[in-house]
Amino acid sequence: MQETATYLKFWAGLTSIGGTVISVEHGEHRLVFDFGLSFDPGNILSGKQVHLRPARLVHDYLRLDMIAAVPGVYSQSEVSDCADLMSAEESPWQTAVLISHLHLDHMGAMGLVSPRIPVFLTEESLALYRALAVIGEGVDGAREYSTCQFNVPLAHGPFVITPLRVDHDICGACSFHIRTPHGNILYTGDYRLYGTTPPIAPQWLEAATALGVDVLISEGTTLRAPEEGEREEIIGDGTAPDTLVNEDMLPEKLCILLSSTGLAFFNIYHRNVRRLAMMLDAGKAVGRTVVLERETAYLARMMLAREDFVETDDVCPSAIKGNPTQYLVQNSYHNCLALLDFVGVSGCYIHSNGVPLGTFDPAYAKLRALVDKCGLEFHYIGATGHAIPQHLQFVVDTIAPKVLVPLHSFCPQRLTAAGGERVLPQLGISYRLRDGRLHASPQI
Ligand SMILES: [Zn+2]
Ligand SMILES: [Zn+2]
Repeated sequence: MQETATYLKFWAGLTSIGGTVISVEHGEHRLVFDFGLSFDPGNILSGKQVHLRPARLVHDYLRLDMIAAVPGVYSQSEVSDCADLMSAEESPWQTAVLISHLHLDHMGAMGLVSPRIPVFLTEESLALYRALAVIGEGVDGAREYSTCQFNVPLAHGPFVITPLRVDHDICGACSFHIRTPHGNILYTGDYRLYGTTPPIAPQWLEAATALGVDVLISEGTTLRAPEEGEREEIIGDGTAPDTLVNEDMLPEKLCILLSSTGLAFFNIYHRNVRRLAMMLDAGKAVGRTVVLERETAYLARMMLAREDFVETDDVCPSAIKGNPTQYLVQNSYHNCLALLDFVGVSGCYIHSNGVPLGTFDPAYAKLRALVDKCGLEFHYIGATGHAIPQHLQFVVDTIAPKVLVPLHSFCPQRLTAAGGERVLPQLGISYRLRDGRLHASPQI
């Protein structure tokens, strides 16, 4: 009798940042991870001027290549007119979907998974998700979610999945270590080496190494093409270069600025509740009242159990204008016209990794122009959630897998596997996992 094989398949997110979807199957059991949305600036939906069609969401997202066409994942009612795509009802697999963390490129489509299929998040991620859903930032689709815990193995057929906590700029983030009958896989999700005290990364690396990794599927967000000015060869190095600004350095920078400016606005990505806590702490340290938008205030209460702030609606602009050095005011991009109420008041606008995230987004230049028009000084006080190239390579060198699969990157080929093999997978090809190695093969 022929042995049941283990196959990996890569569905999306190989040479872009976001929307990485991978499946691992063994007989009738299958895992799918992650399940985010793919967005590119040229997408018809990216400007938010075009209305979504709630009843045709899966159909439209599939046609626009924003979600992966994975067979057996979407409900029959959603894909009835996508003739070539098998529905969950027709699926021969028992599928489980794993979500590494709550950034949209990793979870934006999880609500569209058929309710027949369990979707697993870490307990911390689910707590954050529930809070986000209350403030209108849940994902499309109404369904239940299941939880997994850091370091606690979860079985699905022949697979044993162990979520390992990683350092990333959102709480609840994990890697998935997956034991299969034919080798061990580590899917890193998104991570960085430096962002918290005490550091998370050493324990993560230690735990992953102890479990054994044959195939390392690594993110590569920060890898850029050499023609963009980066050196050709990346030397793995786990130390922090002087140029790296990490989370721990931000409070001091922030307090220095707040001690020498007038009115201060800040823009954060509020899924980063640690940064939110930092803003509240900074306000307290320099004696300023922190003013939060209503949705963020809810997150501060639910996720941080904090009450040391006021909400935007509870303080009128004239009170702030009358005493500008006493306030630290949140201003998200969608509320940026509120800045116009403070023209003539000297002060600064602190961009702390809120949206628009950077110059690649056309909205960033518009925000800068508005801040200039309001006469505010623009300051960036932030830190990346992603490992820098030498840290990505350091992790590869430390884990020393038999096979490296770099993805979630514009330039995945810049990561190298010193003692092992590197596979730059192709979409839609089945790779058979045998003795911890990957072999492109027609699926039987
Ligand atoms: Zn990502
Ligand atoms: Zn992320």
